Amino acid sequence: MSNREIWFVTGSQHLYGPKVLAEVTSNSSAIVDGLNKTAQLPAPIVCKPTVKTPEEIHSVCQQANNDPNCAGLILWMHTFSPAKMWIAGLSELVKPWLHLHTQFHAKLPWSEINMNYMNTHQSAHGDREFGFIGTRMRKERKVVVGHWQAPHVIDQINGWTRAALGWAESQSLKVARFGDNMRHVAVTEGDKVAAQIAFGYQVHAFGVGDLVEVVNSVSEQEAKSQLEQYQQDYVIADDVWKDSHAYNMLVNEAKLELGMEKFLVDGGFGAFTNCFENLTGLTGLPGLATQRLMSKGFGYGGEGDWKTSAMVRIMKVMGEGRDGGCSFMEDYTYNFDGVDQVLGAHMLEICPSIAKEKPRLEVHRHTIGVKCDVARLLFTAKAGPSICVSPIDMGNRFRIIVNEVNTVEQPEGTPNLPVASALWEPKPNLNVAAAAWIYAGGAHHSAYSQAVTTDMIEDFAEMAGVETVIIDENTELRQFKNELRQSAAYYALKQGV
Ligand code: MN
Repeated sequence: MSNREIWFVTGSQHLYGPKVLAEVTSNSSAIVDGLNKTAQLPAPIVCKPTVKTPEEIHSVCQQANNDPNCAGLILWMHTFSPAKMWIAGLSELVKPWLHLHTQFHAKLPWSEINMNYMNTHQSAHGDREFGFIGTRMRKERKVVVGHWQAPHVIDQINGWTRAALGWAESQSLKVARFGDNMRHVAVTEGDKVAAQIAFGYQVHAFGVGDLVEVVNSVSEQEAKSQLEQYQQDYVIADDVWKDSHAYNMLVNEAKLELGMEKFLVDGGFGAFTNCFENLTGLTGLPGLATQRLMSKGFGYGGEGDWKTSAMVRIMKVMGEGRDGGCSFMEDYTYNFDGVDQVLGAHMLEICPSIAKEKPRLEVHRHTIGVKCDVARLLFTAKAGPSICVSPIDMGNRFRIIVNEVNTVEQPEGTPNLPVASALWEPKPNLNVAAAAWIYAGGAHHSAYSQAVTTDMIEDFAEMAGVETVIIDENTELRQFKNELRQSAAYYALKQGV
């Protein structure tokens, strides 16, 4: 991700003469410098020469397509750039683009303004001509409006850049599946060919024996030195070190962690799934091991859920450097007491990047599906605005569902609960949110984050040409059901025969 960049391309034409074009170029580079200095973007913006002819436009679009570091383009018409000039370039452009509808100067110079000024600063109509061709060509793009130094403009550019980095990751991501789907479960299934066409990512399955071999190749010494890392990162009770059984469970997890990591890194995988029904040859369902791999940036989905696993990885890329983390999550149980709440958790696999406090490392009996003692991290999630994201396969296309939720402090401790958890209040409330989620077909699994915003997911879905369904404080069920019906018609038509 470190080499990724966003290109800034200004459109114009030769009509205005070299003096105006020189000013256009210098203003563009001032905007790029300004954004790079103040916008705290996750990737630098690179200023490209002003394009003035169909050939220059076509050429910069082809260069963007061919440059693996270019994650997207910001396009701006400082002056008027007749939009037929853009047809050839935009026809071929496959990288995401943002149409920045801005102007160099914020304030209109009332006492000095003349026709020269008007002709140099005419994005107000130049960008509308350009906007028409994007719409006429049915191109998905992000339109951001306002002075380039305004905080709301900078925020949108920042969010879109993160979505573009997530999209770039999605194009090259490989998901490893250890074992298959949990038997009989529907929502975690799906069409991997369609997913690769829509999102770019590849999904590869492996027999658990392939993983067992690598896990068994981890030496006792390597595993034991990994325990020193655990001692630094987590709160561990003295008993664990004294009890030889508990100690051995930590060693097991260390071997699972190092083995899985080696398997994933050697194979170039950024995400993985496993399933408690496919564990033959392993010591048990990985707990701490999976939690640590997620906190290192790998995507994860339980019970063979490759779509959520890929989403977790993509969202980890989008949210990099921001507070809040990202985890695999499952709506587990409800608290119908006052304000209705969801207690989110999983069998074991919640990422400590969302933790409020330093996690405790404990060994407990795992009793669902398989019975085994497993070391796992226990913590509660930090309070704050969060999103739950669920990509589902509708059979003929994909849909991404987002619910904005408010994560809250747990009112009491849960001394008998041996897993990490997050407690949240969905927007607008549980009644509407869960009904909307169920009407939309959202999974019981989701990718949960406080670092990634709804807008980033919406931008990402548009890059993929996939429907996003948003459940937030404005959701009203009657309207929501109509939106689902209308979208079904739109996406069926868009797909063609
Ligand atoms: Mn599950």
